[in-house]
Amino acid sequence: MGNFKVPIPKNEPVYDYIPGSADRAGIDKAIAELKSQKIDVPMIIGGQEIRVGNAIKITSPHDHSLELGQWYQGGKEQIELAIDTAMKAKKDWEFMPWEQKAAIFLKAADLLTGPWRYKINAATMLAHSKSIFQAEIDAVCELADFFRYNAYYAEQIFNMQPDNAKGIWDRLDYRPLEGFVFAVTPFNFVSIAGNLPTSPAIMGNTVLWKPASSVTYTAYMIMQILKEAGLPDGVINMVTARGVDVGEYVLKNPNLAGIHFTGSTAVFQTMWKTVGGNIANYRSYPRIVGETGGKDFIFVHNSANVEEVATAIIRGAFEFQGQKCSAASRSYIPKSMWPALKEKILADMKDVRMGGVEDVNNFVNAIIDKSAYNDIVAYIDYAKEADDAEFICGGNYDDSKGWFIEPTIIVTTNPKFKLIEEEIFGPVITLYIYDDNDFEKTLELCDSTSPYALTGAIFARDRQAVVTASNMLRHAAGNFYINDKPTGAVVGQQPFGGGRASGTNDKAGSLLNMIRWTSPRAIKENFIPPKYFKYPFMG
Ligand code: NAD
Repeated sequence: MGNFKVPIPKNEPVYDYIPGSADRAGIDKAIAELKSQKIDVPMIIGGQEIRVGNAIKITSPHDHSLELGQWYQGGKEQIELAIDTAMKAKKDWEFMPWEQKAAIFLKAADLLTGPWRYKINAATMLAHSKSIFQAEIDAVCELADFFRYNAYYAEQIFNMQPDNAKGIWDRLDYRPLEGFVFAVTPFNFVSIAGNLPTSPAIMGNTVLWKPASSVTYTAYMIMQILKEAGLPDGVINMVTARGVDVGEYVLKNPNLAGIHFTGSTAVFQTMWKTVGGNIANYRSYPRIVGETGGKDFIFVHNSANVEEVATAIIRGAFEFQGQKCSAASRSYIPKSMWPALKEKILADMKDVRMGGVEDVNNFVNAIIDKSAYNDIVAYIDYAKEADDAEFICGGNYDDSKGWFIEPTIIVTTNPKFKLIEEEIFGPVITLYIYDDNDFEKTLELCDSTSPYALTGAIFARDRQAVVTASNMLRHAAGNFYINDKPTGAVVGQQPFGGGRASGTNDKAGSLLNMIRWTSPRAIKENFIPPKYFKYPFMG
């Protein structure tokens, strides 16, 4: 026995995969191996691999002819089995000593960053069309950080204990939620896919996990790593199925104790409404944690540096094809800076190459799937028809080999233009050029243009401009950047999440998030209980 301490976490170092290095050779070998086989992705319920229902092909987003494997579309039967299994597994998992639970996830981090590193990176490159760098910072570094930091935050929570009066010992017993947690994850980050089911599990919950249909390939790898790390069967049950089906059967279950969601605002709002409609039928009020859409901005003051702004726009808007919830998709530029900035952006864009992930010189790769491709193309076509939009670069698309959309920059004269208001989730950024004298008026515009409040950045060298923007945009972003692009939050450094329509702002990868997965019981122990009912004042 002892008061065990989780090793102080440090962010996993990002490998650079220089051509000719052993790490690069390791990645190349893993890519070749995955390309030479097809992975048959099962559902995993109570540790059993289940393959039933329609089999759906997994192809690479940047190469329709590259078939990677298949997954199965489950239904009601598997969902009910998964809930039942999670409820049964809870009896042992809930009472497993916390440090034993933590050890499983710390081991998973070491497996991920060690023997699994090249393989999961290669899978993320091939199945998600992420560049080697985007794969490394997501599937390896951020996910390992989630495992290590969350174990550490759990220890900190368990150490938060109350005061005691004389003769009394007060304690807080950090129970898991009563029931099961439903984790629903998006396509765009392997780290989020791994974090949403595991953070409640570290706190003693058991989980039904539904990954996004387009990324079941890497979801299976996460389950394999967790199994290898010793996670008991039934603690996390992965069901691959259509979102609507899972939602329908899970959300009405009386044992639903929590939802850990990341995805679009519309889906989250539908889920919340269903929960609201069923509120009298649950054993307890489900905890609802959801991180959703964004319309993230880069606001530029005329004191900013042109090269720095151009770099932030190109990296912020186009890395991973703009498919980050934090991707810059609107920018406000002072008129006096626009000619120089336009020249710099256009010069840099000449070097932005697009193509498959194996050629590492490609900065932009493919869009995740057909439906996302069609949605983004519809926005581009809309802008082509509009009178108040001018294409500065890009605007072309081609789905003959893969889902490719050119990085696109549009300038609009209409500050309420559709593309500057709505989330597009692709490589498209819309700029609005404002009169330098209208700095504060344009800040107000930025604050009120979209319903979202996820990430945003101010670029300025004038400190008063930084202060004014920080204050006026205080509620416009949950993650606010000064002279930096609005993407690339790091666990333990910039806890992530936004307000307004962007989510419940429970800050993934922080103590604030972990605390949502516990329902504390206050225990008061009286060492010398009174033996007669009268108080002293009664004489
Ligand atoms: P999505 O909403 O289409 O899907 C998310 C998940 O919900 C998937 O697993 C999907 O199958 C499931 N789903 C769909 N309909 C459902 C229903 N009716 N009931 C239950 N589950 C259902 O989102 P996506 O396309 O995978 O991801 C992109 C979105 O995610 C963007 O809007 C982006 O901004 C957001 N996102 C936000 C953050 C954040 O931290 N704020 C991070 C990543 C992504």
